[in-house]
Amino acid sequence: MDQLTLNNGKQIPQLGLGVFLVQDSADLKQSVDDALKDGYRHFDTATIYHNEAWVGEALAQSDVKREDLFITSKVWNNNTTYDETMAAFKESLKKLQTDYLDLYLIHWPSEGYTEKWRALEDLYNDGQIKSIGVSNFEQPQMDKLLTTAKIKPAVDQIETHPYFQQKVLHEYLTGLNIAHEAWGPLGQGKSGALEDATLKQIADAHQKSIAQVILRWHLQRKIIVIPKSIHAERIAQNIDVFDFTLSDAEMTAIAGIDKNRRGSADPNDEGWLKESLSMN
Ligand code: NAD
Repeated sequence: MDQLTLNNGKQIPQLGLGVFLVQDSADLKQSVDDALKDGYRHFDTATIYHNEAWVGEALAQSDVKREDLFITSKVWNNNTTYDETMAAFKESLKKLQTDYLDLYLIHWPSEGYTEKWRALEDLYNDGQIKSIGVSNFEQPQMDKLLTTAKIKPAVDQIETHPYFQQKVLHEYLTGLNIAHEAWGPLGQGKSGALEDATLKQIADAHQKSIAQVILRWHLQRKIIVIPKSIHAERIAQNIDVFDFTLSDAEMTAIAGIDKNRRGSADPNDEGWLKESLSMN
């Protein structure tokens, strides 16, 4: 498994398992077990996924040592203050059956994010989180955060896939030495990228699937990926991407299929950010 070094010197496995929308405890347990067997060590959950406790259970029951795992969770938008963020973090630790997280993210740039960041900084300084970051932050929100932050985010987790490549934000984050982590790396199975003709041609040339080519493309852009699947075969396939390389010409061809088409919520949509404060 390739590792990336974050701006605080900590390492992150460049590929992990996402568990968004896994709402059945047996499916969750089975997919974490399958992933661990295949060599996954990095797991991405969030309070709002309502499955942290099952992730915690599955990891606690495995024979992989805690120090060999990389666990990410995220504080949800209904927590808007320093104290609420502290309380939410403690709850996540309890559910995940651990006394520290490898990465904890502010899920969206919604109300109170600079206050929430202060809480993450204190938890980081206290050793309870090894790296802190944000999610769904675009340049204006990051610029604002950086005016008060004492610690620079290590990661920004943002929607990124072949039809929404985030080229401008990628350059901005790279310039700041903030790691770009892709959520929805496969276009959430709904962007159309998994049926793209250019990707199919490249996949056939390497005797790989389109999903594998997409994940390989992310890795070569130095992006962290957390593809989600509950199917053993796909979980195995999604980590089997370290034995081939896309050529410069193939990388350029993939850059050319970008449609700049977002598939999910927009961090610039103030109405949605407001609504999300009451979701839990
Ligand atoms: P994804 O891009 O990982 O797509 C998952 C879907 O792709 C699956 O449901 C399946 O339909 C398909 N798929 C998976 N493997 C495949 C394969 N080998 N071949 C063909 N199809 C395959 O989408 P996602 O789950 O939304 O994103 C990944 C993770 O990112 C999530 O599970 C979650 O952990 C995180 N996430 C974070 C945010 C955020 O706001 N920070 C938002 C969404 C997701």
